[in-house]
Amino acid sequence: SVLLPKFRKMTTHRTFTMIKPDAVENGHIGGILEKITSAGFTIVAMKYTQLSKRDAQAFYAIHKERPFFDELVDFMTRGPIVSAILEKENAVEDFRALIGATNPEDAAEGTIRKLYATDIAENAVHGSDSDENAAIEGAFHFSGREIY
Ligand code: UDP
Repeated sequence: SVLLPKFRKMTTHRTFTMIKPDAVENGHIGGILEKITSAGFTIVAMKYTQLSKRDAQAFYAIHKERPFFDELVDFMTRGPIVSAILEKENAVEDFRALIGATNPEDAAEGTIRKLYATDIAENAVHGSDSDENAAIEGAFHFSGREIY
């Protein structure tokens, strides 16, 4: 819109998400997408895909020294995921609020993880934790031509 300030960066209103293998296996793709669109997010890119070991190791490289790293890579590669780029004002922060805490036991009522996650590892969804990571993660999964 012409009313938006020219200095607004595209990255500040986008986030990146994955519906993880547990939620796909458990039949929750539709429920999770319904929560996302009902909360006012627009889907600007989306695909149904499966990560290779190398993809998952690269995506989660920041966690490579953590004790759960190998388990996380095995989990994230065991079946298909849905990956997507979402757009909304304040997308990163609002999406983190919508998904809830990493451990579903600590997640607020009504959040996606409270509703659909199994445990701290198999927690149904990913959400970027900063604008910078949203841009990096989106570019990791999508080419420019795949983003609306
Ligand atoms: N994870 C895990 N065990 C832990 C903590 C995290 O398996 O003790 C997994 C979980 O799938 C989590 C991901 O590693 O979503 C990334 O962890 P992070 O702390 O970045 O949590 P998030 O940002 O996803 O809430």
